[in-house]
Amino acid sequence: FDKIREGLQKTRDKVARSIESVFNRRDPGFYQELEEILISADVGPVVSKEIVEELKAWEKTNPGATADESLAHLESSLTAIFTPASPWEESSPSKSPMVVLLVGVNGVGKTTTAGKLAARFRDAGNSVILGAADTFRAAAIEQLRKWGERLDIPVVHQKPGADPASVAFDTVRAARARGIDMAIIDTAGRLQNKQNLMNELRKIGAIIHREAPDSPVEVLLVLDATIGQNALSQLDEFVKIAPVSGLVLTKLDGTSRGGVVIALARRHKIPVRFIGVGEKTDDLLPFDPSTFVRSILR
Ligand code: GDP
Repeated sequence: FDKIREGLQKTRDKVARSIESVFNRRDPGFYQELEEILISADVGPVVSKEIVEELKAWEKTNPGATADESLAHLESSLTAIFTPASPWEESSPSKSPMVVLLVGVNGVGKTTTAGKLAARFRDAGNSVILGAADTFRAAAIEQLRKWGERLDIPVVHQKPGADPASVAFDTVRAARARGIDMAIIDTAGRLQNKQNLMNELRKIGAIIHREAPDSPVEVLLVLDATIGQNALSQLDEFVKIAPVSGLVLTKLDGTSRGGVVIALARRHKIPVRFIGVGEKTDDLLPFDPSTFVRSILR
């Protein structure tokens, strides 16, 4: 909990204090001020308005409510926006490897997330293998190999420019042959060429399905939280080209507008799986809606 609060410090600084003060002052402009605070944290105009209207209606039917009860109501309605995700780490290991495909545009923190995820699952007692299917950037392959070396986790890779689906094939094959619990595959994210990217991701998906038909597959879309509402358009694009099953929001340590997580979660009702709050290995945290909302509001 402390780690999340610390990671969200910039957003907390902006939101928590102002929230406390509007609830305590209770000016005639209370609802307007509250809406502005939410918008300033990038919760988005639509969600902010909805949430404030909801609070207004609730207060009408609960005229004796204290400031604290009102705030608790706000907290629970923000939390309810999130679609809950079933836990992974507690799911029983099966014979087939779980396959995690990381998608998203360059620079959002995909490769870093692959490394951090690998460390997290390894530390939870699973065997892990990494696949460097972002063959477009030589640096991405190199970066993933470094993570592998540092964590002592095998990394399947080919030459820059190789077919990403072939790397995915090798990765899943190796995972099955060695009885590995989890395969994490990094992909390229050239959204400039949508048709190509879609074909590439489809081909990778088909190969995983063919080589490991019983494997649970998670497609995690990695989004950079510091780009605010622009992350929404990346989300919209990616849901059109890939079966995104979960979100990872990175760099929340670097923004005071962490409310964007709420806007993103609400957009397509896709569960948020993890948040990134720094560059270090243990800076990827499992996402829990109520802890998140509490951390930014209080
Ligand atoms: P990719 O191109 O999507 O694979 O992105 P990278 O994994 O190379 O990450 C781009 C930069 O973002 C690197 O400098 C990372 O260290 C940094 N980064 C990734 N996640 C986080 C995070 O949660 N917080 C911060 N502050 N930096 C991050």
